[in-house]
Amino acid sequence: MAIKTMHIGIDDTDSPRKGCTTYVTAILVEKLHRLGAQFIDYPNLVRLNPNVPWKTRGNGALCLRIKCDENTVEEIKETVIEVVEENSDLDYKGTDPGVVFFTGTKIPQEIKNFARNAITGIVNLKDALKLLKKFRGEAVGFKKARGIIGGLAAIGETLQGDHTFEIIAYRTPENYGQKRKVDAASIVEMNKATAPYTFNNIDPETGRILITPRGPDPILFGIRGETPEIVKKAFEMVKPLEPVERWVIFRTNHGTDAHLKRVKQLIQIKPYHPVIARGIVAANPKLIPRRHVIFPIKDDGACVDCAAYEPTGILRKAAVKLVEGDYVEVYGGVRAPSRNCPLTINLEKLRVLRLMPKMIYHNPICPKCGKRLKSMGKAKGFKCEKCGLRFSDLSKVEVKVKRELAKGLYVTSPRSQRHLTKPIERYGMEKRGLIAKEFIDGWHYP
Ligand SMILES: [Zn+2]
Repeated sequence: MAIKTMHIGIDDTDSPRKGCTTYVTAILVEKLHRLGAQFIDYPNLVRLNPNVPWKTRGNGALCLRIKCDENTVEEIKETVIEVVEENSDLDYKGTDPGVVFFTGTKIPQEIKNFARNAITGIVNLKDALKLLKKFRGEAVGFKKARGIIGGLAAIGETLQGDHTFEIIAYRTPENYGQKRKVDAASIVEMNKATAPYTFNNIDPETGRILITPRGPDPILFGIRGETPEIVKKAFEMVKPLEPVERWVIFRTNHGTDAHLKRVKQLIQIKPYHPVIARGIVAANPKLIPRRHVIFPIKDDGACVDCAAYEPTGILRKAAVKLVEGDYVEVYGGVRAPSRNCPLTINLEKLRVLRLMPKMIYHNPICPKCGKRLKSMGKAKGFKCEKCGLRFSDLSKVEVKVKRELAKGLYVTSPRSQRHLTKPIERYGMEKRGLIAKEFIDGWHYP
């Protein structure tokens, strides 16, 4: 009997009011297991470009990679389609689910490139369908079928570079929409025992718990970390105070900055493409209502606005201290220009590369008695109030003072980080060319 390798990509099953594609995947893990499928990787949770204007909530697509008997292939496909159909919010206008099947041990480079573009930029359904035809993939779409884009992208992102893990626990349906009940003290303990190998458990500035989402989706909590072992350990430390229906460990591009693409010049910045760019601060930052901070940066060819919003905390506090002439590297999504605004980068991170010296100007001191002189008006010289002498040839004394801002990297506070934003504690922990093939005991339930 021939063994087939199959990659199953799924996307866009949820809506702001219901569902979650990771949950659809979690159900499939159980069902495919029963059908004798052998998983060759943890389910992959691939976050796509968070700046596309039409994204579903988190813009996350899923991929299951399995080996199975040739004669179970049809049953597996039917099961996948059935579970997706049953668990999608098909009545919701913007929900257009898609499922993609790709058979083969090697993912073609063109599909990998497509995934890359779906994470860092904009791709379309036409291109996805072209690739499916060329490489003989199969796709099933519901309604406008836009989920096929994410489904194919999830297959193409094999997470061979940097990646992390997330264990997600799901609620039982009767609790959907109710306040999540998880023992807060156990989360604090878990964080102490496992950070920085787990991340974004708690917001350090506000103390807010971040592992429990808000909203009506089926997720009770999710813990992110560097290895399957650490997220499993962390999961076992957290005490849920309501039933957990199931849980699964995912391999993901969360916390890897995979969406950010470096541009050499500001002129290359395009709407909806997340970027890393360098420039000189072109004017002092402005505070706009609700305590947001805006400042322009420029290079030889262009000028763009950068925005640090109030909830970005640490980042906003650094941005407000910039002055004209500082040299910075900015990281973030790009908003389309509107009538009153040029292109704007919504900052996720800011690296201060060079600080403009800050000068203040003092009146000189009296050469005779040492007392600070009084100015007699612009370009009119100085006068000593003690000796009564006048000095027309003296000028103000320039003094360099310490800037309140230090050079270095400022990352938005965990409570406002995107799924893809690499948190500061992950710097230095990036994984290279490593694929998790070995499963830990018990990576899903049931
Ligand atoms: Zn004097």
